[in-house]
Amino acid sequence: MKVLVINAGSSSLKYQLMDTDTRTVLAKGLCERIGIDGRLTHKVPAKDLKLEFEIAMPTHAEAIQSVLDALTSAEHGVIRSMSEIDAVGHRVVHGGEKFAASARIDADVMAALEECIPLAPLHNPANITGIKACQAVMPSTPMVAVFDTAFHQTMPAKSYIYALPYEYYEKDKVRRYGFHGTSHRYVSARAAAMLGKPIEELKIITCHLGNGSSVSAIDGGKSVDTSMGFTPLAGVPMGTRSGDLDAGILEYLMNKYGMDIKEMLNVLNKKSGVLGISGVSSDFRDLEEAAKAGNDRAQLALDSFQYSVKKLVGAYAAAMGGVDAIVFTAGVGENDAVTRMTIASGLEFMGVKMDAEANNTRGHEAVVSAADSKVKVLLIPTDEELMIAMDTAEIVGK
Ligand code: ADP
Repeated sequence: MKVLVINAGSSSLKYQLMDTDTRTVLAKGLCERIGIDGRLTHKVPAKDLKLEFEIAMPTHAEAIQSVLDALTSAEHGVIRSMSEIDAVGHRVVHGGEKFAASARIDADVMAALEECIPLAPLHNPANITGIKACQAVMPSTPMVAVFDTAFHQTMPAKSYIYALPYEYYEKDKVRRYGFHGTSHRYVSARAAAMLGKPIEELKIITCHLGNGSSVSAIDGGKSVDTSMGFTPLAGVPMGTRSGDLDAGILEYLMNKYGMDIKEMLNVLNKKSGVLGISGVSSDFRDLEEAAKAGNDRAQLALDSFQYSVKKLVGAYAAAMGGVDAIVFTAGVGENDAVTRMTIASGLEFMGVKMDAEANNTRGHEAVVSAADSKVKVLLIPTDEELMIAMDTAEIVGK
């Protein structure tokens, strides 16, 4: 089946056309500056082709149309006509408590997505705009929504409840939702495949460490806890996001510097994390370079990040009563051997033993723990687009 995967942001739109039978990417690319002017980058991996076009994109509808034109172009296209696209899979950030799995998009699902807007006011409207734009140009193509939050809906109440007055949960849906669910689901399934064991028999801790980072406890294939919360601001320190902090700090800083809540949240989302601590960069490559050159704050940012992840690994092993595998994925997890090593070192007491040589690799599936390590440590590149395409093919094929 040929599935078009769409990830729509407010002014950008990423796409991949996948053949789900061969699990190959036929073409992929990015529309940027939607509503400003418009730029399309289109890649065809089989031909090693990368093209850039300036195309007017006043709205997402023109962006989608330009994607379809690129996919069907006589010169650099990969299909003859739009009718070859069997289905479209849309990444949607928030599915609230309504969606514990991917769903075929119909009028009811669209209404439920609208209802979730207050939970993700920045992301869901853009996702909905992307879906509507696709429906306008491909009215008879079946579409599926794949949610970042859905995988974590298996968390027990004790994991997702905040210790706030209960009515904020009941009435206002304030609870831990967790994000990166598609990634945690994909890498935990791959981990089971790599270990040659049914996922139902495994306790896995997945560390999605990128610009945004989250750690999840996955027991028997089900998410039982995760570090992001009501929003993706919670958990470990990230590129520019603070992660968990004492809510009392907000009042203190807002009073002291006359900030309103918008300004405060801008600091927590955009100026904090490893960028905030180091004052150098949100990019781990820059931090490692600066730390090597003797910058103490860059080293402190790395230390703080690695320590936070390590603490969660211990916490989730305790929560599950053990752990069979620890998985590293996303930009930092896949590429940064030092960070993997630092997080997993010192855990010999719980059966984790790294293999420095095996760990000295990047970007491909690998076992990076020692042969006699009781807990396997795995490097698994994530592939959210493949997961979205496979879900879409399965739901549409039914
Ligand atoms: P996003 O959360 O935006 O999807 P990614 O998962 O692509 O982010 O991760 C991006 C981050 O990965 C970059 O900010 C960078 O810090 C980190 N990264 C990429 N390559 C390396 C590398 N070789 N070593 C260390 N960090 C890396």
